Amino acid sequence: MHTLKIKNLNVLVDDKKIINDFNLEIKSGEIHVIMGPNGIGKSTLTKVIMNDKTYNIVSGTIEYDGHKLNDLTTDKIAKLGIFLSPQNPIEIEGVSNADFLKAAVSNQKEDFKLLPFVKEVNKLYQDFDMDNMANRYLNVGFSGGEKKKNEIIQMYLLKPSLILLDEIDSGLDVDSLKQVGNKIMEYYQNHDCAILIITHYQRLLDYIKPDYVHIMKQGSIIKSGDYKLVKEIEKKGYNNW
Ligand code: ADP
Ligand code: MG
Repeated sequence: MHTLKIKNLNVLVDDKKIINDFNLEIKSGEIHVIMGPNGIGKSTLTKVIMNDKTYNIVSGTIEYDGHKLNDLTTDKIAKLGIFLSPQNPIEIEGVSNADFLKAAVSNQKEDFKLLPFVKEVNKLYQDFDMDNMANRYLNVGFSGGEKKKNEIIQMYLLKPSLILLDEIDSGLDVDSLKQVGNKIMEYYQNHDCAILIITHYQRLLDYIKPDYVHIMKQGSIIKSGDYKLVKEIEKKGYNNW
């Protein structure tokens, strides 16, 4: 059982308040969705959880299983089992997907063994219809959808207990959306984990059924509900809450 607790969090970027008295608790076995207008701090929240130093936490705490994340570096946070699939995955020229994944996984696991790892990597790339892409440079020349599938492959190898998915559905065609949605759900059903999804669209939620849906505006959660809230948002938009 794992728990993320965010309490009274306030975050500045360039002296501008982005996260504003934000509170949220997520436990293993729960799927949360955050929806909200553009530019109100959704991606910032995910990056602050990973302690991206671009952002200045002025007050409040973020705790995972009793560890204060504000005091830890990003690699230590990842080792606690937190995984962020960012809105815009980065490209790294000169580093292959396979080498990147090997570095990440071997760093995390003391009993790392190369052969089973290579087999698992190859199988995952096949499962995602991305044969032979393991040896290409990390995300370089990948389509938007391929980058997002690559994130889910990383997730499968790192086996996180808290998964933060920032617009994982962007760039995916209908078939890929179904494939990615089902793969995320399959992981969720087979691991002791929680998921936080940031999305603008109901379509991903055809495959991943959330327990909680939150509306975020001006850096805080202004309303929480269940799946029915998604339908209400589609009807009313964000201006009438
Ligand atoms: P969204 O809810 O669309 O994900 P973001 O969290 O990306 O919004 O951004 C929230 C606000 O913070 C926006 O106004 C954005 O321009 C600003 N912001 C985010 N990151 C930075 C940064 N590194 N430097 C300056 N402004 C930033
Ligand atoms: Mg964003």
